[in-house]
Amino acid sequence: MIGAGAAGMMAASVAGKQGARVALLDHADEPGKKILISGGGRCNFTHLETSWERYHSLNPRFCQSAFARYGAQDFLALVEHYKIAWHEKSPGQLFCDGPASQIVAMLQAECRAGDVTWYLRHAVQQVTHDGHVFSIKTSHGEMSAHTVILASGGLAVPKLGASDLSLRIAKQFGLNIIQPAPALVPLCLAEPFPDLAGVSLPVTTSLGKKGVKFTDGMVFTHRGLSGPAILQISSYRDAGQKVRINLLPGHDILAEMQAACQRRPRAQAAALMEALPARLARHWAQSMMDKRPLAEQPGRAVRTLAERLAQWEVIPSGTEGYAKAEVMKGGIDTRQLSSRSMEVQTVPGLYAIGEAVDMTGWLGGYNFQWAWSSGVAAGLAAAERSRVL
Ligand SMILES: Cc1cc2nc3c(=O)[nH]c(=O)nc-3n(C[C@H](O)[C@H](O)[C@H](O)COP(=O)(O)OP(=O)(O)OC[C@H]3O[C@@H](n4cnc5c(N)ncnc54)[C@H](O)[C@@H]3O)c2cc1C
Repeated sequence: MIGAGAAGMMAASVAGKQGARVALLDHADEPGKKILISGGGRCNFTHLETSWERYHSLNPRFCQSAFARYGAQDFLALVEHYKIAWHEKSPGQLFCDGPASQIVAMLQAECRAGDVTWYLRHAVQQVTHDGHVFSIKTSHGEMSAHTVILASGGLAVPKLGASDLSLRIAKQFGLNIIQPAPALVPLCLAEPFPDLAGVSLPVTTSLGKKGVKFTDGMVFTHRGLSGPAILQISSYRDAGQKVRINLLPGHDILAEMQAACQRRPRAQAAALMEALPARLARHWAQSMMDKRPLAEQPGRAVRTLAERLAQWEVIPSGTEGYAKAEVMKGGIDTRQLSSRSMEVQTVPGLYAIGEAVDMTGWLGGYNFQWAWSSGVAAGLAAAERSRVL
């Protein structure tokens, strides 16, 4: 098993408990570093509404079989078995009450129950296959195995140990890689709004008239835009694509401004955008109108202002990259994997799970659930294979 992160620990423990002899390798000095800092230190460990519609992938339905076998309720049952207290932050979104280290400790205990052998500080450099066994070259010499599970994650947050290992090995075995890119990541603007940095508000983000829409918080940053609604849409956006932002979702902006105009004919535009944070309203009005009261502005200007609030279009200059991304999108093409076992169709005994695979969840616990579910699928299948060999 290569990678003692969320997916790797889950797969190792499941395979071990099924009787397989499991070696769990990781170049880090401790397992599950991303789990430890996840969810602001409280680990948003699953989402009860997990389903394929909440994943971005070239082949999103691929995850269905793994979720059917081991879903959010199954992981929750494990958490409860370990008496880890949890709470539902927003509907379906589950967090630990205490530190995220409880989830790592739980997975370590599960690995102990499966008699898993740990090889921390073992950097895996290469994996080859002679048609019979795999050779795994590590910083501490070579190991061999009949089965290898790639669980070394994606490229997000290199300072937590992310590497391109799974992608490199997959390529070497002739697998197609869906172009990786940072996802759940803040967006940069060529001309950001430093004066507005820190201003936050609920918005709806989308990429066009069709497709996904996210209504959640947005925050202006020194480099551009962030907050959940931005992170979510970032996973779906291709480079160069514009993002549409409704700054007042749920409001009939034109009607509200016209009504406010009649109530307070001497007020200026900024004062009439009552639902916007004051700093943003002032900035918005100044950038689009002169100082005359809104009632004295031409009707066209008021309409344009309302339209711009409902459909602000930005073309981000880029993202804040892997350093700030919560996950990597893209990765190992699922069309070459078995959806039941995560085994590479052309290389029996080689499996790929977790973030290394082209299956990117929404914000809210979906990425861990994919790690747990794909880990269980591969762990069970690998143990079955080891019994046959
Ligand atoms: C700040 C942050 C917060 C997050 N919060 C949440 C959240 O609350 N809920 C949620 O669902 N998702 C969250 N995520 C996403 C989630 O952490 C990942 O989707 C998940 O960890 C992926 O699991 P994985 O096992 O595939 O990869 P990882 O957990 O990244 O594990 C990969 C392991 O492989 C090891 N490795 C890499 N290269 C090598 C090598 N060459 N040799 C040996 N070992 C290697 C790494 O050290 C690591 O331990 C968060 C991510 C970040 C960055």
